[in-house]
Parts: sequence; C-alpha cells; structure tokens
Amino acid sequence: MDRRQALASIGAAGVAALLGGAPDLYRFAVPGRSAHARAPGPPRLTVRPDPGYARGRPLQVIDKTKPVHNLHDLAPAAPLNAIALTIDDGPHPRYTPMMLDLLAEFQVPATFNMIGTQVTENPALVQRLANAGHQVADHTVTHPLNLPRLSAARIEEEIAGGHDRVAQVTGIAPKFFRAPGGNWSPQVIEVAAAHGMICVDWQVDPRDWSRPGTAHIVRTLLAAKAGDILLCHDGGGDRTETIEALRTVIPALKQRGLVFVAL
Ligand SMILES: [Zn+2]
Repeated sequence: MDRRQALASIGAAGVAALLGGAPDLYRFAVPGRSAHARAPGPPRLTVRPDPGYARGRPLQVIDKTKPVHNLHDLAPAAPLNAIALTIDDGPHPRYTPMMLDLLAEFQVPATFNMIGTQVTENPALVQRLANAGHQVADHTVTHPLNLPRLSAARIEEEIAGGHDRVAQVTGIAPKFFRAPGGNWSPQVIEVAAAHGMICVDWQVDPRDWSRPGTAHIVRTLLAAKAGDILLCHDGGGDRTETIEALRTVIPALKQRGLVFVAL
C-alpha cells in the first residue's frame, strides 16, 4: 500500500489530521451556494490515487523546442476523448479550497500551476491538493510576466526556485512548468527541461482572470474539443466567476463524453 492508498483508506478526516490540521479547509462552504451545500463534514477525496493518464510511463514531449499546446503534443498518446484542465496562479487560501471542493464533487483531476511564494505560504493546502490526486506544477517563484527578458541567473532562480518549493511541500518533484502569461523563449524552455520539466501552454483560454462574466467563461470553455488543454485560474483575484462557470462546464463536457485528465 503506497502513501496515497493509505491516505484513501484512512479517510479524509484522517488525512486532515495527517496534514497537520487545517480543518477549516475541509469545512469550506461556497457562499451563496446553499442549494449545493453538502452535509457538514469533509468532502470526499477524488478517486484517482495519482495524477497522470500515463501513470507508470512518464509523459514525453514530442517537439522539445516548443511548449505543449495540446494533449496530442505528448507521448504516450492521451485517451482519444481526454481533455486537461489547468488552473493557474494559486494556491489561494479562499479560492483554491472552493476549486478543490468543486473538482471533488465532480470527481475531476486537474493540473495546478502554482506560484512558489504562495506554495510556501500555504503548505497544508498544497498537500491537500496533491493528496487528492491533482498534479502540482511549477509556475515560477514570483510570476514575472517578463520572464524571457530577465537575466539568465534570474530565469534560473524563478524556474528552479518554483520547482524546489513544490518539491519541498509535496515531496514530489514537479514534472511540468508553465511560463507566466505563456511568455516562452528558447532559454525558458531549456532551463525548465534542465530541471526535468515539460513546458505546458494551453489551447482554450476564457481569460477568466479578467472577470469577463460567468457566461463568457462558460461559452469559451464549452468550445473545448478532445485533446484540448483548458486554462483557468484559482489565484490572482476574485475567482467567483471561474468557479461558477466550471460548475456548469465540467458536467456539460463530461456529458459530451469528454474525460478530464491530470497531466
Ligand atoms: Zn499565471
């Protein structure tokens, strides 16, 4: 029995105890959502014990000079009906637990691209997320949107520092990196690769960070097709619209036969 199976078998309450408390994270109720409120108690963990649709066979990027835009850019091939939800700029003490509760409710794994400083500030939340079977990825230490224009030393610091903070908190070295704002350069890709990470971009972008309205986010995400990588956010501001939108989008995409995978 590995650690995650052990955690699953002892139940979420036990996990909370193992994670050193933070019981408030387990009781987080989404404001204004009383119709969906569950009975008091911890939300159930997701069923997937480990992230990754190719568990046991590490994912490879086919063209190492470009970031991955689509699941078809990865080998081994994703299931034909797979899509991947990526969630950036957390962890956030308010919105990340809301996101986790939503994903647990729909039994959907996701990939969280996390900002290193926030990882260090919210270790229990990051551990809860990783133990629920989500993938934790590196999104730099401080989220510099001008990453490609920084000095070589600063680029190294941002990418390696983000990598190390995730590894320290989760006990797992991150396998994926996303540049802030999707601002890539050959040097950024090279540094991420030197730290054993695949660079992951996206295909479907509702620009939820700009708070364009729940309806716009829903419409954009519903255009997703098999193989697409979707971009959403749990940090960087008020993410109520994003969470509202996903409550509609996730069941609708599942209904269409699409299957969410964590990278
Ligand atoms: Zn970002």
